[in-house]
Amino acid sequence: MPLLRDIFIHLSENQFLNNSTKKMGLKFGANKVVGGVSIDDTIERIKDINDQEMSVVFDNLGEFITDKEDAIQEKGKIIAMINAIHEFGVDSHASVKLSQIGLQIDYDFCLNNIDEIIAVANKLDIFVNIDMESYNLYPDTLRILDAMLEKYDNVGTVIQAYLLNSPDDILKYKDTRLRIVKGAYKESADAAHQDKADIDKAYLELIKSHLTEGTGYTSIATHDHHIIEEIIDFIEQNDIDHDRFEFQMLYGFRKDYQKNLVKRGYKMVVYLPFGMDWYAYFMRRLAERPQNINLIVKSVTKH
Ligand code: FAD
Repeated sequence: MPLLRDIFIHLSENQFLNNSTKKMGLKFGANKVVGGVSIDDTIERIKDINDQEMSVVFDNLGEFITDKEDAIQEKGKIIAMINAIHEFGVDSHASVKLSQIGLQIDYDFCLNNIDEIIAVANKLDIFVNIDMESYNLYPDTLRILDAMLEKYDNVGTVIQAYLLNSPDDILKYKDTRLRIVKGAYKESADAAHQDKADIDKAYLELIKSHLTEGTGYTSIATHDHHIIEEIIDFIEQNDIDHDRFEFQMLYGFRKDYQKNLVKRGYKMVVYLPFGMDWYAYFMRRLAERPQNINLIVKSVTKH
């Protein structure tokens, strides 16, 4: 459905809609894929998910911030959420996009912001994952990760299977906690595999490498059941301890499969976005999988 995909991408980039939806609560069925607008709502969602024996990684929505004041505000929201997790005793950790806290404004400004976030989380024994974004931010993201790994043990990052550098990175970070994904951005053939079959092959190799080469914990973040089942076979055949890895999926996606994995004894972590900037995230999820249009149809016909 390429036409629908383009429509949703276009809608996700519409500035007027992005701004006007900030003032609304979650609309059009967005609550099916977004945890809440406020910290309080989101803590309630985390409790619901924890009740289903799943953990949560939260993501404060909003990226590519170009104003220092905005970046400081976003840093404040992330720290407030980390404090709320501790206060309410829920099972959750943080996912942070460096573009949200100033990577495109000034490197040192961003470094100080992430340092502050990780320091607070470190005191509360909460893990912080640094998300990997588009390839132009990749060198600075790893530079910041390296600086943080020298100071803290509660930090890790994401490896994108489509990147041609990833087989080297996975060995460099074999003792670091990593989330491994296929990769979500449009990158050039100089930097990234373009064919789905190549990306899937690279994905499996990276996961197997990280599960066996070092001491780093592995977060297997995909909705792809072919890949998940092949990894499970590998894990069981090689007797890999269940404490060394977890599966991650986005909130609202493949809920039955998430429950099924928990029932089979695997750790499941739900990626839960929250915040006022829910609109672009929701449109991008619809672009990725236009079948999710039924979320909108159901929400509209209910009222
Ligand atoms: P796809 O290649 O999208 O799907 C493969 C197959 O899985 C499909 O053909 C279908 O059979 C099945 N499938 C997929 N979705 C569904 C569904 N909803 N219902 C039924 N069947 C389905 N990307 C980044 O670049 N940086 C990040 O930091 C990052 N963090 C992420 C964190 C999490 C928890 C997750 C889940 C993804 C993250 N991503 C990130 C996105 C990732 O890179 C992929 O773009 C995204 O996950 C889509 O790829 P996939 O592995 O789920 O499988």
